[in-house]
Amino acid sequence: MGVEMEENRGAFDGHRAAELMVELREAFGSGRTRSYEWRVAQLKALFRMIDEKEAEIMAALYSDLAKPELEAFLHEVSLTRSACQLALKELKRWMKPEKVSSSITTFPSSSEIVSEPLGVVLIISAWNYPFILSLDPVIGAIAAGNAVVLKPSEVAPATASFFARTLPAYLDSSAIRVVEGAVSETTALLEQKWDKILYTGNSKVGRIVMAAAAKHLTPVVLELGGKSPVVVDSNVNLEVAVKRIIVGKWGCNNGQACISPDYIITTKSFAPKLVEALKSTLEKFYGEDPLESKDLSRIVNSNHFARLTRLLDEDKVYGKIIYGGQRDEKKLKIAPTLLFDVPHDSLIMKEEIFGPILPIITVDKVEESFDIINSRTKPLAAYLFTKDKILEEKFVNNVSSGGMLINDVALHLANPNLPFGGVGESGIGAYHGKFSFDAFSHKKAVLHRSFGGEAPARYPPYTLKKQRI
Ligand code: NAD
Repeated sequence: MGVEMEENRGAFDGHRAAELMVELREAFGSGRTRSYEWRVAQLKALFRMIDEKEAEIMAALYSDLAKPELEAFLHEVSLTRSACQLALKELKRWMKPEKVSSSITTFPSSSEIVSEPLGVVLIISAWNYPFILSLDPVIGAIAAGNAVVLKPSEVAPATASFFARTLPAYLDSSAIRVVEGAVSETTALLEQKWDKILYTGNSKVGRIVMAAAAKHLTPVVLELGGKSPVVVDSNVNLEVAVKRIIVGKWGCNNGQACISPDYIITTKSFAPKLVEALKSTLEKFYGEDPLESKDLSRIVNSNHFARLTRLLDEDKVYGKIIYGGQRDEKKLKIAPTLLFDVPHDSLIMKEEIFGPILPIITVDKVEESFDIINSRTKPLAAYLFTKDKILEEKFVNNVSSGGMLINDVALHLANPNLPFGGVGESGIGAYHGKFSFDAFSHKKAVLHRSFGGEAPARYPPYTLKKQRI
């Protein structure tokens, strides 16, 4: 039964979810998803799909978010393509059992760690990078030899419908499925017993996912968000720092990114220089009327538009706008906006912003930023701009966050040799590259012995003499 047929049969409810699970258990139980050949065939097909359907993918991303073409290509299409390519290149090596040394207690023996597929896994993805956030984990799940269900976000409907239409034409539909839908469909899916769930989205729903998973003792990867800080020291190349902050904030889906800079901390004395550089570079990049710029995504929908304007319109914040603030409700556009010295107890300093607004707060000494960051829930990313190696080392050793990047923003996720994930409130577990393969594998400990090497002391009757050996 393909996805189209599932759609023709009406609402996706608990009954349908149970049927789907039976089919996928059967596919996994057949053993075919475990073979190297099956995994490679699926990954190659996915790779081909990305190439052949690039125009459709870009059109879907434009329809969902008005994502600028270059951004859509680099951040979604190209990175997903590379993830697929890497899995194809490395799969044999990843699948190979890892030999480890044995201990004297088990002598003579040999030991290995075997990566085995977990079974049937569920991937629930979010709307902001709807293509890569769906396929990157799917690539890991397939590479690890699992059957998989992808539930893309209903908030990016064009991309979700692209997956439902297109994936069955390329992939083995008996083992890889797409279920479109929102809360009720996801709830029906979550009632099933999965072997792993990878969820990307906000932490409120993360808790719902984890509670549902706990009923079946299902392990989870939760890719959540948070308020990712950017600390700017005075000892920097200001021009480069500012360009990188801007492109990492507004040049990544107009601030609607999980690792988007959420707020800046800088010193009181350096702030005026930083603010001037931010303002003039923003104008250079997006013009005098940024609402008309083609290089900025729109806000995804009216709910998020209302959420963002509520943050901006709060009394404590309203007078703090030092740049931008323009909005166009009809076009769902908000201009790049800078706020200065907002109170720590304002809504905007409590909630993840996830949009084109960037507050700047100030401290006397740059090191004070460490306590500010550590006094909050742990962010998904933390950034520092400085030429001072000692400050850099202190930052790395004293600030806790999912990932960290020095002298740039957001780029760490483009290195597949680094795990991508949060800590504390920003998430559980990680993926990308080999970490995706590991996230969807069980690391089975296997000890091999022969019938030789008997130690009589091991067997009863236990005697004092044996104990002393
Ligand atoms: P979203 O609205 O697309 O929701 C995510 C998924 O949860 C969707 O598939 C949706 O159908 C499902 N969902 C929503 N409500 C549900 C419910 N009550 N029960 C079950 N499922 C439900 O995305 P969002 O939550 O707005 O995403 C934004 C958040 O995600 C931000 O906090 C952001 O930082 C975080 N995020 C994290 C990453 C990461 O990789 N760590 C990436 C992107 C976004």
